[in-house]
Amino acid sequence: MGKSLSVEIVCSACGADTLVKRVPKYDGFKKIGEIFVCASCGHEFEDEDKVPFKTKAKPAVFDESDRSKKVEVFAGNEKARNCRYCCNYVVNPFTQRCSLHNKIVEATDICADFEQKSAAEST
Ligand SMILES: [Zn+2]
Repeated sequence: MGKSLSVEIVCSACGADTLVKRVPKYDGFKKIGEIFVCASCGHEFEDEDKVPFKTKAKPAVFDESDRSKKVEVFAGNEKARNCRYCCNYVVNPFTQRCSLHNKIVEATDICADFEQKSAAEST
C-alpha cells in the first residue's frame, strides 16, 4: 500500500466533507515532519492524531484481519465434525436428522458424538 496523498475528512475547522493534504513541513531547508492541511479551507492540523478522518482506516483494517484469522482457526478445528460429514446424518425430503440422537439437525451443526462418514458413503 502506497502513501496516499489525499484522505477524506470532515474538517473540524470549516465542517466541509473534503480531503486532507499531507504537506511536508520545513524548518528552513530541513524537513522536520509533515502537517495535514484541509483542502477546503486550508486549516492546518498539527499532527495526524488531530486530523478528523472520515473513515478510520487503520483500526478497521486491523479488525478485519483479526476477525478473518479467528474464522480460519474455527473452520480448521470444527469443519470435520459437522453433522453433514457424520455417518448418523440422514437427509429426508423435508428435514435433516441425526439418527443417533433422533432429532432434527443442521448440516453445519457440530456434534460431540460425531462419527466420520466413510469415504464411500460421502461421495
Ligand atoms: Zn476546512
